Amino acid sequence: ESQHLQRAQKMHSVGTLAARVAHDFNNLLMVITGNSELLADYLGSDSSAMEFLRPIGRAADRAAEHVERLLAFARKGDESTREVDLNEEIEELRHVLQHLVGSSVELEIRCDEAISAIEWIPTDIEQILLNLVVNAKDAVGESGRITIETRVADAEDQGAPWVELRVSDTGCGMSPETMSRIFEPFFTTKEPGQGTGLGLATIHRIVEDFGGRTTVQSELGRGTTVTLLLPGCTRQSKREGALQPLDRASGT
Ligand code: ADP
Repeated sequence: ESQHLQRAQKMHSVGTLAARVAHDFNNLLMVITGNSELLADYLGSDSSAMEFLRPIGRAADRAAEHVERLLAFARKGDESTREVDLNEEIEELRHVLQHLVGSSVELEIRCDEAISAIEWIPTDIEQILLNLVVNAKDAVGESGRITIETRVADAEDQGAPWVELRVSDTGCGMSPETMSRIFEPFFTTKEPGQGTGLGLATIHRIVEDFGGRTTVQSELGRGTTVTLLLPGCTRQSKREGALQPLDRASGT
């Protein structure tokens, strides 16, 4: 149990650290890129100094690609998918999650026994749950209720039924302006050091890689519900279904 807690916390901090380094690095790159562009304008395109300036811009662009790759790597400690019982994963994390939200916040877990196993990367599931629950905890503060729910989604695809994972809270909610930016990497309304702005962006990307969908409903002062629609997939559809987008994403 405590080993599991440690692993979850370590994963969380490795991800956070990588994200912070990437964030700071990107800011420095922006200074380099921005100023070389200004300098290029200032010198004019027929200046002989341009031959020194162009490689700087190209190197900065390449460095930005490296940062992108670092971020992709940070979220993939364990690349391989396996059949995951979502209810079991949640149950295993129950104590970690309760510890995260504190004893004054009510954590309700409602698992639908009817959901099917999904072909996913278990650490991705863990990261998604931790991120969503940390956000919900930040939103409710010292008191409130956080509900984690699984259920069979309304059948809308050809193969196996989809699974719905829903995390809702009775917290502060979001304004429409905030809502419109939540999937942007590095967008955060939290104090520096409290938020990286990568939680929902990462979740959105992971879920999309697997062909799923993320929706968020929120009302200021009332609370927020994040719903993930996750494709459960059959063994036959696995190859051309859920795995392919991930292969494509990591193969670039
Ligand atoms: P971070 O939590 O590091 O700021 P996220 O990408 O997870 O990054 O969230 C981005 C922003 O979305 C948060 O800063 C917050 O303003 C808003 N947000 C996310 N989840 C919730 C929630 N459950 N309740 C209220 N606001 C939220």
